[in-house]
Amino acid sequence: YFAKKSGKNKYQFFNEHGDKLARKLQLEQDFRSAIEENEFYLEYQPCVELKTGSVYCVEALVRWKHPILGIIPPNEFIPIMEETGWIVNLGTWVLNEACRQNKEWQKLGINVKVAVNVSSIQFEAENFVDVVKEALLKHEMQSDFLEIEITESVMQNVEKSTRIIHELKELGVKISIDDFGTGYSSLSLLSSLSIDHVKIDKSFIDGITSNSNIASVVKKMIEMGESLNFDLIAEGIELEEQANFLIENGCRYGQGYYFSRPVSPEEIQKLLMQMW
Ligand code: C2E
Ligand code: MG
Ligand code: MG
Ligand code: MG
Repeated sequence: YFAKKSGKNKYQFFNEHGDKLARKLQLEQDFRSAIEENEFYLEYQPCVELKTGSVYCVEALVRWKHPILGIIPPNEFIPIMEETGWIVNLGTWVLNEACRQNKEWQKLGINVKVAVNVSSIQFEAENFVDVVKEALLKHEMQSDFLEIEITESVMQNVEKSTRIIHELKELGVKISIDDFGTGYSSLSLLSSLSIDHVKIDKSFIDGITSNSNIASVVKKMIEMGESLNFDLIAEGIELEEQANFLIENGCRYGQGYYFSRPVSPEEIQKLLMQMW
């Protein structure tokens, strides 16, 4: 009533925020049954060796097919799941589904690694290493086919994260740092943790052919990665020029729409069958 009284525009403004909040509350509510109802599914995006174009691994990316709202992207629902703690349940589901699918591919002779995104809340939850161990055991999956992607934010708790990373490395699982450059960790800290891969955030790749400052920062990242002994993966490559710049400057791996969008497991399977 108040909002209406203060004019049409303000009413809409009020409404817009109200809708956003209502949608958020609905997602929060509906998540409770969404795993059981099989509303989540994974798409996979290949990560390629830039020089040869061969697929190094596939990254699992979760989607929610909501019965009323349609397909909801992770950037919308993951922050809500993190707030409510539901991310831990979802993360366990993602991990198991990625391992199940990977094992199925292995049985068909498709030997491809899978990378799984892990929220820092899931990573720091008490039993994370056990959840990983159980998923590997349950699906009889070889541990070095699994790569866990964490973000720099886990470094806010360096001691704890170091311990978890060591336990995961002992299992034989690979670790990569996602969205590198958007947080505050240093490459030398990551090197002391024996991280396997560092993924340069898309925001840097966007600027490499148009902004010489960004280009030199990316060159430095690649140089440092080389001397600290981990391979870099460039994220969000959309253009041939970007791929060429990265190859010329020694970046080993890349991912992006230029190579492939995230696609269904069936499509990944087709793509990989053609390559073998
Ligand atoms: P991310 O892990 O950094 O994944 C890369 C995102 O960039 C994906 O978006 C991918 O579809 C998109 N992308 C890849 N190449 C390009 C490109 O060339 N251009 C553009 N414009 N975009 C590109 P998506 O699938 O919407 O996922 C967004 C984020 O949601 C992910 O970023 C990750 O942080 C999170 N996420 C996705 N799946 C999971 C999951 O299973 N668990 C957790 N905890 N987070 C997830
Ligand atoms: Mg990722
Ligand atoms: Mg990323
Ligand atoms: Mg991200």
